[in-house]
Amino acid sequence: MAVPVVALVGRPNVGKSTIFNRIINERLSIVEDTPGVTRDRIYARASWLGKEFRLIDTGGIDMSDEPMTVQIKNQAEIAIDEADVIVFIVNGQNSVTKEDEDVAKILYRTKKPVILAVNKADNPEQRQTIYDFYSLGFGDPNPVSGSQGTGLGDLLDEVVKAFPTEDTHEVDDSIKFSFIGRPNVGKSSLVNAILGDDRVIVSNMEGTTRDAIDTKYYDERLEKEFTMIDTAGIRKRGKVYENTEKYSVLRALSAIDKSDVVCVVLNAEEGIREQDKRVAGYAHNAGKGVIIVVNKWDALKKDTHTMRDFENQIRDQFQYLSYAPILFTSAIKGQRLEKIPELVTKVYDNRHRRIQSAMLNDLLLRATSIAPTPVVNGKRLRIYYMTQVAIQPPTFVVFVNDNELLHFSYERFLINQLRDTFDFEGTPIKILPRKRK
Ligand code: GDP
Ligand code: GDP
Repeated sequence: MAVPVVALVGRPNVGKSTIFNRIINERLSIVEDTPGVTRDRIYARASWLGKEFRLIDTGGIDMSDEPMTVQIKNQAEIAIDEADVIVFIVNGQNSVTKEDEDVAKILYRTKKPVILAVNKADNPEQRQTIYDFYSLGFGDPNPVSGSQGTGLGDLLDEVVKAFPTEDTHEVDDSIKFSFIGRPNVGKSSLVNAILGDDRVIVSNMEGTTRDAIDTKYYDERLEKEFTMIDTAGIRKRGKVYENTEKYSVLRALSAIDKSDVVCVVLNAEEGIREQDKRVAGYAHNAGKGVIIVVNKWDALKKDTHTMRDFENQIRDQFQYLSYAPILFTSAIKGQRLEKIPELVTKVYDNRHRRIQSAMLNDLLLRATSIAPTPVVNGKRLRIYYMTQVAIQPPTFVVFVNDNELLHFSYERFLINQLRDTFDFEGTPIKILPRKRK
């Protein structure tokens, strides 16, 4: 089942960011006595009682050119669009304000569960004031203190209880993929070109748990089911907030989370930009399969070197993505679009590849004879055994005499050996050293 999404909403300065950081157990974000301080993270995975969820701090989605009242309303709408459960936060040190009521009015429109948290209830006296907030109409207020961390356990109990119940139908084993990238690189054109063909749409997964418009379809040529994960609200454009940078980052992170394979789209006309690197970094860090799609290839004046030069630039600027295949497409002219689902399938299979231990240990013997293990401070690294412990992405444990001796360069050498021997194109590989007892 999809991991549920929980959104924190409320007017500025009620403590959303403080509570966000408490829940994800990190105190990274700077919380100051200034309303609307910039946050470094607005999206994270968290868990409570063994239940995983994704948490969004809508307060971090700033829309600086909009007046504050509009921003607050947009944030509440984002919560309704994106979340399965909404936590509405108010400040218990005041009574209900006009802005709280504005937020409430928007939240009345959703059928999704809304849980009311009264923050800054730092002591028993303050916990008495929560009753004022019944008037907002969201049932029992939950007193919490973000700065002290109290009450959050009870709040999360309520949140977890409100999660959508497990889907009754069988597991969805379609291949999930998405297009991410800067605005205007051609993501929605690619989506439409691929879905526009003679695909049989199985379902628009709308209205089930959230309003995301992920599309499941059957590809007759490949005889496979795919789910195209909607990224930038591609197929329901027209919301006021959709062009804000933070919102598109949020959508990208959420799409990556749900995907098996992520297509990072670049614009051939414009070349590689800083923002492309950030976007690609998210995909890489998530351990997903990655394909680099250079779109608008039709719009470029080309000679015999153009493709190779572009490829070199990509390899140079995205060194951590050396495993990702590169595809040059035109959504408008239909160039090489059929390669996209083919490559997605290939990368998906590679991400699920399992290698038998016997073959891994043959590889290890060969590898250590080509490049003897390093000696550090007079001590030689010994690798006894290697075994695959996970897929998605393929993860290998190597049993060694001392973890500290397995340096990055030798680890990279082993990864390269794995890639030379088996097909892991498009997927990251992880190596975990374990000290043999
Ligand atoms: P946001 O704008 O809703 O994200 O609010 P912040 O998390 O930035 O918090 C606003 C201010 O309230 C900061 O000065 C926090 O230190 C303070 N604050 C947050 N939670 C609590 C709390 O539980 N008790 C008290 N007394 N102050 C808090
Ligand atoms: P998105 O913001 O990434 O979803 O980009 P869009 O799909 O909306 O495309 C932005 C613009 O680029 C539109 O005007 C498209 O017609 C154009 N475009 C998209 N793909 C191509 C392509 O392959 N070649 C050319 N020449 N233009 C394209």
